[in-house]
Amino acid sequence: MTPGVRPLVAGNWKMNGLSASLAEIKAMREAVDAGKAGAAELAVCPPATLLAQAAWTLKGGKVSLGGQDCHAKESGAYTGDIAASMIKDAGAQYVIVGHSERRQYHGETDAAVKAKAEAGLKAGLVAIVCVGETRTEREAGKAIEVVSTQVRGSLPASGGPDTVVVAYEPIWAIGTGLTPTPADVAEVHAAIRRLLGEIYGAAGAKVRILYGGSVKPANAKELLGLANVDGALVGGASLKAVDFLAIAATYL
Ligand code: PEP
Repeated sequence: MTPGVRPLVAGNWKMNGLSASLAEIKAMREAVDAGKAGAAELAVCPPATLLAQAAWTLKGGKVSLGGQDCHAKESGAYTGDIAASMIKDAGAQYVIVGHSERRQYHGETDAAVKAKAEAGLKAGLVAIVCVGETRTEREAGKAIEVVSTQVRGSLPASGGPDTVVVAYEPIWAIGTGLTPTPADVAEVHAAIRRLLGEIYGAAGAKVRILYGGSVKPANAKELLGLANVDGALVGGASLKAVDFLAIAATYL
């Protein structure tokens, strides 16, 4: 945790969720609005097809909404893509960019991620920029080097606590049930914090740095209590309100 920074617990639903899943979002809203979910801000990032309906479900409440990706351009002939302004228009406040699954399956480079993050900011969204090393890179002792290169290359040029969130997600920990040791998480988050200071100056001290990768109710307390860990980006465990809320309850 960083003193004076409100944590963010964001749920990335990936390619999961039909309209029936709005019941989970409704349950999240009810718990948060009733003050039962703790002090962190909660955000849910369903697939694009559910954004507008989710926005209606969340309207007037305290749970935030995010998209999972956006195009770098404002509009144009990009069949199947979604502009940041469309995500904003659907009712979202956040957009995830540079998730490792986008980097891996869609060949997104740091420069592409940076362009998407900047498009998000231009549209009035907060960009959640994901970074993280592979298992091979970690075993080769290169985690800090890899993550530092990604941070330098992927973050929008101008930003701060109100526009940028960084999510450290070791690729080998995503969806695997594996997590780095608390010491390893703390080491990478400290390195990201130093870089944020270099990039954004004093404002970098308050930019939220989330940990992501197999966060579950059982390990949330240990991971989210570390220095410079200002919340979590949660995949699988965010699909069910009961699990997601149990993770958020770390901040009760
Ligand atoms: C993710 O995909 O952002 C993620 C952290 O997934 P999981 O929590 O399922 O590991």
